[in-house]
Amino acid sequence: MSRYLHPEVETLPRSRLEALQLELLRKQVERLYHQSAFYRERWAGIPREIRGLEDLARFPLITKADLRQEQQTHPPLGRYTLVPPEGWQEYHPSSGTTGFPVGTVWSRKDAENIAEVTARTLFGFGLRPGDVLLNGFSYGLWVAGMAVHYAAAKLGIFILPVGAGQTERHLELMARFRPKALTATPSFGLYLAEALRARGMDSPLAIGAFGGEAGTENPATRRRLEEALGIRAYDYYGLAEMGPTFAAECEAQAGLHFAEDHYLVEVVDPETKEPLPEGKMGVLVLTHLTREATPLVRYYTGDLAVLTKEPCSCGRTHLRALGGILGRADDLVVYRGAKFYPTQVEQVVRAFPELSSEYRIEVVEEGGVARQVTVVAELAQQREDAEGLAKALQGRLKEALGVTPEVRLEAPGTLERTAFKAKRVVRYVRA
Ligand SMILES: [Zn+2]
Repeated sequence: MSRYLHPEVETLPRSRLEALQLELLRKQVERLYHQSAFYRERWAGIPREIRGLEDLARFPLITKADLRQEQQTHPPLGRYTLVPPEGWQEYHPSSGTTGFPVGTVWSRKDAENIAEVTARTLFGFGLRPGDVLLNGFSYGLWVAGMAVHYAAAKLGIFILPVGAGQTERHLELMARFRPKALTATPSFGLYLAEALRARGMDSPLAIGAFGGEAGTENPATRRRLEEALGIRAYDYYGLAEMGPTFAAECEAQAGLHFAEDHYLVEVVDPETKEPLPEGKMGVLVLTHLTREATPLVRYYTGDLAVLTKEPCSCGRTHLRALGGILGRADDLVVYRGAKFYPTQVEQVVRAFPELSSEYRIEVVEEGGVARQVTVVAELAQQREDAEGLAKALQGRLKEALGVTPEVRLEAPGTLERTAFKAKRVVRYVRA
């Protein structure tokens, strides 16, 4: 059996893939211009003719704040919601934000496409018809639980629809049906592993796909998941506004492949908002090529990534975000003319075997300007020559960041363990 569910799409040569994207983009832009007052207003004065994919850069970015304002002004879902209510299948709000939630609806066709793309990812992880899948993604308003459920049904997989939490139920069904795969957040995956160990149970799993929060892209976390559950752990990415599970790792675990036949993927400079070439870290900007109900063109995600179109050893041609999602653009530190992200500090800290993998960046700001930046790292074990080690770390940070931060080393186990959605940058404002 093939390693791809949709080989004709997944291995389409890039020239043909980009020709397909261009055709879909032209149709989407024309449709939105004619049917949506929201887009017509935003695109006033912009030439609509699209000769190549690079012409997309003419169109303005859309932020979550723009969508929130539009939905509040034009309830219930704003003027970019194009399918009439009788064509809606289900509602999914944005998650984890304060204030008015931005709503998204899937038309029946949208739900069908989401199920197709998600089925492709499950197949890529190694699931086959007749396998058993324990779905630990939350069911209901959150997007990923439903997407995995629909995809499993499509593939002929036996699904145990437990959802998030309910650890005892997960354990009972693991013992009873010996599922091959688990879908969950990485923190729940680690929690389940602990619960199995505490009860002296073995893990029946061979595959884990983790999303909904950061973690799996971190090598140390991935190793913990793989060892504790006896699995290959894969990273998954999605967003309520854009859709669930449209970017996933393949068996090579070499970055997130995007479903480029449904999504157009760009990376832009967080400050100038200009498109960046492959290999440069910037903010992911996504465009729906096929979405019917709540289509977005150039949605500014705030998530940082580095893209590559280099061929992957799996044979898939769809572009990848190397190392997964690398953090949030809000975490940029500007200090004495240098600019850096926590991931750059992380790479330096984790190259020191004498240090634990925990770290924090403390920024003291005055009048909106960073006056002092301290990298706080933690000793793996208590030691005498901590001062020399601090100096060595400072030197390496200077090379990597182009600026010299203060360095402080804490005793082992001092820094808070919040491996997931860990807050790496702590800002203090000096009056
Ligand atoms: Zn691949």
